[in-house]
Amino acid sequence: MTILAPEIESRPWAEQLTVDEASYREQLVYLYDRSPFYRDKLTAAGFHSAADAGGLADIARLPLTDKRELLQTCTPDNAIGAHLCVGTSEIARIYSTSGTTGAPSFIPLTASDLDNWVTGSARSYAASGIEPGQRIVTTYNAGPFAAGAALGAFDRIGLAHIPVGTGNTERLVRAIEMLRPEAAVLTPSYAAYVVEWAAKRGVDLPGSTVERVLVAGEPGGGEAAFRAALEEGWGARVTEAMGIGDIGVSLWGECEEQDGMHLGARGFVHAEVIDPESGRALDMDAGAGGELVLTHLRHRAAPLLRFRTRDHVEVRTSACPCGRTGTRIRCVGRSDDMLIVRGVNVFPSAVREVVSSFTPRVSGHILVEPRQPGPKQEPPLPVSVELAPGATEDPTLADAIRDRLREALVVQTRVELVPWGSVQRTEYKSKLVRR
Ligand SMILES: [Zn+2]
Repeated sequence: MTILAPEIESRPWAEQLTVDEASYREQLVYLYDRSPFYRDKLTAAGFHSAADAGGLADIARLPLTDKRELLQTCTPDNAIGAHLCVGTSEIARIYSTSGTTGAPSFIPLTASDLDNWVTGSARSYAASGIEPGQRIVTTYNAGPFAAGAALGAFDRIGLAHIPVGTGNTERLVRAIEMLRPEAAVLTPSYAAYVVEWAAKRGVDLPGSTVERVLVAGEPGGGEAAFRAALEEGWGARVTEAMGIGDIGVSLWGECEEQDGMHLGARGFVHAEVIDPESGRALDMDAGAGGELVLTHLRHRAAPLLRFRTRDHVEVRTSACPCGRTGTRIRCVGRSDDMLIVRGVNVFPSAVREVVSSFTPRVSGHILVEPRQPGPKQEPPLPVSVELAPGATEDPTLADAIRDRLREALVVQTRVELVPWGSVQRTEYKSKLVRR
């Protein structure tokens, strides 16, 4: 178990905060100097200078940044937005986000931004336990999206990288059989898809050389039952990583303890957790869960301050036996997917987690089908639960799932069992909700 940058990743968190404090204050000076967006936004909020804005201890007094605000500042002359701080000649790369919320947006990076992204991402992926000199097969495309930047992380770790791209399972499985990699990188949905694909064709996936499956791109890799099913199907240890395009790729990565993701991008990014309704900052060090809010500390092209990620996280505060310091997180879902059933927040991924505890009688595939538009729903919430191959419809099973959902998530559901194969599979990211 190697730590890529032990002097940084294992440094006491108080020391990290001292380093971050200096970076943050410099970043604020930079924002006032270079970012029309933040100069205006902070001034409007009554902070007329970097000195007014204070340090990290005062960060919760500053306004939050919403993705929509940034998009609203885009013009034909500046497609990136008013948070752009550098001239064209300083930009080394521009990624796009497809944006779950609609319009595409652009993410510019200077050479140093890109280098920091790769550094943080490398630490996050290395936390999985993969060692330099090993082989890794990856299914990301080096396309327009920020995930492509993660590919640089595999070089940085010193791996033999075998890119096979997205959506060609035949090629992926061939590469595993012929090139014998120790690790594979996929979205959790795709990892589950490959398990079924292999089983259907008699391919011995658990018997392959893959010892580690690194999942990222959507929540799910940390759900206990879902993870257990992936680990059994692959015969490998599953760890997850997570980033957000606007801030950085694979910012967080789980270690072999599998109890939440470490901030691989420590030093580059400061994390907070807020109550998504009130926007109030919560005490992350006390383990409070909520929406993850991130601030760039050393960014140049288009730094963001208190950016609302829309990711809802649980926080782990216990010391991790791996030696990496700082709090860890597990993502429980995206607020875009969140439903509110009679005042209770329900994430479809949490529904899947509860349902998956009924394996092997169910396949683990579910579909939540809200009846009302928007997040607010009247109970019962309809949930289709797919049966395992060969399993027969058993009314007591539907009742048992409904009861456990009510106990675990305090939500009333109407559970319908559907035959195996009827919930659509994906080679990228799953849609757990159908409207
Ligand atoms: Zn750890």
